[in-house]
Amino acid sequence: MDEQVDAVVVGSGVAGMAVAHRLRDAGLSVLAVEQGLIGGECANWACVPTKMMVRAGDALAEARRVPELAGSSAVEADWAVVARRIRDQATHCWDDSRKAAELTGKGIRLVRGTGRLQEGGRVLVTGDRGQTRSFAARATVLATGTSPAVPDIDGLAGTPYWTNRDAAELTEVPRSVTVLGGGPVGLEFAQILRRFGADVTIIEAADRLVDREDPEVSAFAERTLVAECVRVLTGARVDRVEHRDAGFTVTLNDGGTVASQRLLIATGRAANLTDLGLDAIGLDPRAETVDVDGRLRAAPGVWAVGDITGHGQFTHVGTYQARIAAADILGLAVEPADYRAVPRCVFVDPEIGAVGLTQAQAAEQGVRVRIGRADIAESARGFIHHVGNEGFITLIADADRDVLVGAVSAGPAGGEVLGLLTLAIHAGTPLSVLNSMIYAYPTFCRAVEDALRDLVAADPVR
Ligand SMILES: Cc1cc2nc3c(=O)[nH]c(=O)nc-3n(C[C@H](O)[C@H](O)[C@H](O)COP(=O)(O)OP(=O)(O)OC[C@H]3O[C@@H](n4cnc5c(N)ncnc54)[C@H](O)[C@@H]3O)c2cc1C
Repeated sequence: MDEQVDAVVVGSGVAGMAVAHRLRDAGLSVLAVEQGLIGGECANWACVPTKMMVRAGDALAEARRVPELAGSSAVEADWAVVARRIRDQATHCWDDSRKAAELTGKGIRLVRGTGRLQEGGRVLVTGDRGQTRSFAARATVLATGTSPAVPDIDGLAGTPYWTNRDAAELTEVPRSVTVLGGGPVGLEFAQILRRFGADVTIIEAADRLVDREDPEVSAFAERTLVAECVRVLTGARVDRVEHRDAGFTVTLNDGGTVASQRLLIATGRAANLTDLGLDAIGLDPRAETVDVDGRLRAAPGVWAVGDITGHGQFTHVGTYQARIAAADILGLAVEPADYRAVPRCVFVDPEIGAVGLTQAQAAEQGVRVRIGRADIAESARGFIHHVGNEGFITLIADADRDVLVGAVSAGPAGGEVLGLLTLAIHAGTPLSVLNSMIYAYPTFCRAVEDALRDLVAADPVR
């Protein structure tokens, strides 16, 4: 016999929780189903713990810059401080009882177990002892997130390789680490572990790091890491992995080998859809993502939000979608999701932020572009900042419409400067307006004004 509620949310990561809270705030009876920890990946093993690590690594790097700015410094890195902070402040030893109390305190019902769709969008929840309960709702929301996609490499299965989960729970920094994957996650871990004393090698199969961004971003990321003595191997495919007592040996397609104490797999994520019963609501159970429309509808009475929708694996995308899905469930008029200005940050130091189209995407879409650039080191603030001031702004403008369609902001506080550029792209702000505003002196944001000047200079009909 089905228990009846207004809404069932399967998965209690950031996206699922955001929908659940909004629906509950509007007075609906809401049931949250969670098979792991409330808060999902972001709160427990991803954004929050890794950014605490980034903060710690940045503090070390900044202290090591003191001799060039302010005297002398002696820095002794101690991972125990970072591990304690993650354990005590971020995850409470990976115990979500506080988050559960917060949830139920708001009137959201929580059922622990694995949710699976049944015909008509009903949800069958199986608990850890195999007990089942069935729920029927007017709205079912899927928010089951992703898991590490571990590549099928000869010898890898069965070895004690790490994923982001092991790295987030790290209590001691190893002597050496090989990071498989040169995307944002691999880059962030590489720099953090290097700053805490590990010898780090990144192996990336593509011919450049962060290869979804333009080549100038890849080159900047590589320069940044190599400057800190991270070894970067691009265009390198792993043929075989071996593990013995001393650690891992990775054999590359050119016959070369890389040995290290630990191996971290950061080769992307796969959506948790396999056992979700998508076929029960007429969706392809083998699909890599759940297809949704602008209001996040996946099927009649079923919505999907977060990483599983394939619109960018970011917390801010999940919470943005949650807002739209909740409004739609509540029958409120809402604009469909608009992904023209999704910000993407790589939290290495200096930070790399990008938003909107890359130059390659703009070319694919047939946009006639004009590019404006500015060098952060040559800006007033960059000059003042001195050591650690590497970076650049690139503006990608649609030459026919005179608006920005993409931008890169790399440098100190690069992710913060990105906010201005995100707004400009989101709002379709005319270049003339961006050119007429006042940029505080001497902020890093002022480099945007320099890049705008370069953009105007690049205009043949100016
Ligand atoms: C190392 C790392 C660092 C990152 N850093 C950032 C960052 O700085 N900024 C940023 O924006 N993004 C970052 N991300 C991405 C971000 O973590 C994800 O975009 C975000 O967590 C996705 O949220 P979600 O709710 O869609 O899924 P998840 O957080 O994965 O939550 C899904 C939840 O569903 C549960 N679940 C799955 N299947 C079922 C089922 N059948 N029944 C019941 N429960 C189920 C899971 O247990 C999980 O709790 C990072 C990712 C990684 C890996």
